[in-house]
Amino acid sequence: MSLFKSLPEIPTSEAKARAKLDHLYKELFYHNYCYYELNEPEISDEDYDALFQEALALERAYPHLKKDNTPTKSVGYAPLEKFEKVSHSVPMLSLDNAFKQEGIEDFIKRIKKFLGLEIDAPLEFMAEPKIDGLSAALRYEKGHLVLGCTRGDGTTGENITHTLRTIHSIPHHLKGDDYPDFLEVRGEVFLSKEDFLLLNEEREKEGLPAFANPRNAAAGSVRQLDSVVAAKRPLQFFAYSLALIPEGIKTQRALLDSLKKWGFSLGDPLKICGSLSDLLEYYGSVEKIRSHLPYDIDGVVYKVNRLDYQERLGQVSRSPRWAIAHKFQASQGETILKAITIQVGRTGVLTPVAELEPINLGGVLVSRATLHNADELLRKDIREGDRVLIQRAGDVIPQVVRVLSTDSSKRNPPFIFPNHCPICHSHAYRDPEEAATRCTGGFNCSAQAKERLKHFVSRHAFDIEGLGDKSIDFFWEQKRILSPMDIFTLEERDSKETPSLKMIPGWGEKSAENLFQAIREKNHISFDRFLYALGIRHIGQITAKSLALSYETAPAWYEFMEKMAAESLESEAFQSLISINMIGQTIGLSLYEFFREPLNKKMVKDLIEFLTIIPIQQTKGILSGKTFLFTGTLQTMTREEAKQKVESLGGKITSSLSSQTNFLVVGENPGSKIQKAQAIGVPILNEQEWLQLIQKP
Ligand SMILES: [Zn+2]
Repeated sequence: MSLFKSLPEIPTSEAKARAKLDHLYKELFYHNYCYYELNEPEISDEDYDALFQEALALERAYPHLKKDNTPTKSVGYAPLEKFEKVSHSVPMLSLDNAFKQEGIEDFIKRIKKFLGLEIDAPLEFMAEPKIDGLSAALRYEKGHLVLGCTRGDGTTGENITHTLRTIHSIPHHLKGDDYPDFLEVRGEVFLSKEDFLLLNEEREKEGLPAFANPRNAAAGSVRQLDSVVAAKRPLQFFAYSLALIPEGIKTQRALLDSLKKWGFSLGDPLKICGSLSDLLEYYGSVEKIRSHLPYDIDGVVYKVNRLDYQERLGQVSRSPRWAIAHKFQASQGETILKAITIQVGRTGVLTPVAELEPINLGGVLVSRATLHNADELLRKDIREGDRVLIQRAGDVIPQVVRVLSTDSSKRNPPFIFPNHCPICHSHAYRDPEEAATRCTGGFNCSAQAKERLKHFVSRHAFDIEGLGDKSIDFFWEQKRILSPMDIFTLEERDSKETPSLKMIPGWGEKSAENLFQAIREKNHISFDRFLYALGIRHIGQITAKSLALSYETAPAWYEFMEKMAAESLESEAFQSLISINMIGQTIGLSLYEFFREPLNKKMVKDLIEFLTIIPIQQTKGILSGKTFLFTGTLQTMTREEAKQKVESLGGKITSSLSSQTNFLVVGENPGSKIQKAQAIGVPILNEQEWLQLIQKP
């Protein structure tokens, strides 16, 4: 290990940087392998970190040298192919449950009787919150984490060491020096409520189904064969017990204290209770703060504090006799659904929401519940004025389970799902690939604009240095950037603003000037980046490139889109759009709906007029620069195949004959185009000649 911690040296020549980076990648991959796979690290954590930081510094200095799959981006090693089964050294039991006070009274009586204690003899319990997560066991040998597994059926679990290692609150090495050589720690893996909601938001953005509750999300995250997925999710771990108790630890309280000392996090609040009334008071106080806790709990747990008592009490069937879970009341209840409203998400999804007669569920007043989407609404036949059953799934999101009243003569008519956005009044449409109905307003919809702006300036779009997510948030709050055009007029307007940007703390003259400079540099942009930046649903980088190649210039593209959107989906224009390479029905429809909104058209038009949009190069091929028109039926290939062929060889297809057309290819039963081609002097090829042309070396 080096004695001095110095900043990594950055080579000045690119060749040297490349060689150095390759070397670092190799080293990092090797040490990842030793650490995660072989479980035998060869270097200290500090030395590993030094290599890692050096690679990061080089990547920052030479971003184009950075590879897609670098060790600086990944955690862990190769994904597993399947989970290995692990037998628990001591079975992982499940807890007995009670919902009512009588259940707890019986529990205490049973214990005292078993231990031969007087009914009024003192007996201490350790009271802990019951986290609603996934139980896991961690094995440490000489203080090193060697194995982590799920509870499974209590006897056999699955080896999930690779994902558990990505959790920050699970120490890889125990702290202190008084831990036993072999230690098996048990606890709960979970996601905080906030991280759970963020994860679902991300999933919504990516078009993936949402997790029903934090427990499912946690289970889905640790049961990943690829640790990289788990590493991206901020999972946490609370320890609560040990499989085998080391000598010297006499109580549950002391056990928890030891776990804390060895580097584990514990549930909160914890309390020693000496009587039934103490336990009930604890229960009541935790239920009261339940909704304010950062994580989800479904009850509290009482454990006999003395471990010698625990041992004597043993277990009944598959539950310990010395512990019980005092569950909170099931969070379900009946109420009246007053109205159905529509909420617009950050990506423009219209979500129906039930406005309820407020109802107390598990200590929380619920007045709104999600109805998910139009299909769900229809399936459950939920209508305004209905008496409904509400539940809080996993304590977080209230939802409507079903309708209770069915006196159809008095019911309101079914809810009509709006075809317009309630916020910006743009029309909304149902994407054929998902259940969601989306607002087409984009930048003009205040619910979505900020996210759209962040995308607009992002790395693969306009890539404006100094204008990241945080700056967009700032300019948005200041109302200085509300639309894409506002970015380009920011500098010009700045002199009239009070205060001007350079006067704002955190900016200063230099940062402000740098930002204006960075924006000025981006008034030239390649056509494909421009298309991608618009954030039209389903237009990714590859489809943007395909469109840019097909329409060549931004004005030509705009003119075509405007014309196409003015016609029906059966029009020739729409058919020609969806036959472009990579563009199918879904993407075509997305463009169609986008261009039906006048404000979208204006925004695009203004940008095209203001910016210099540079066409991109066609892939070179034998048909480069040549434009073809097909008429009649070909015998050897379909029209679609012919089109693909032309494009793959660098040529273009047109649907209207003009002097710009290089060849008219004629199949059987051609129309009147032959005469026109002859008239304007466009060369005509029959099918045989066409085949010869594309088979040229
Ligand atoms: Zn809208």
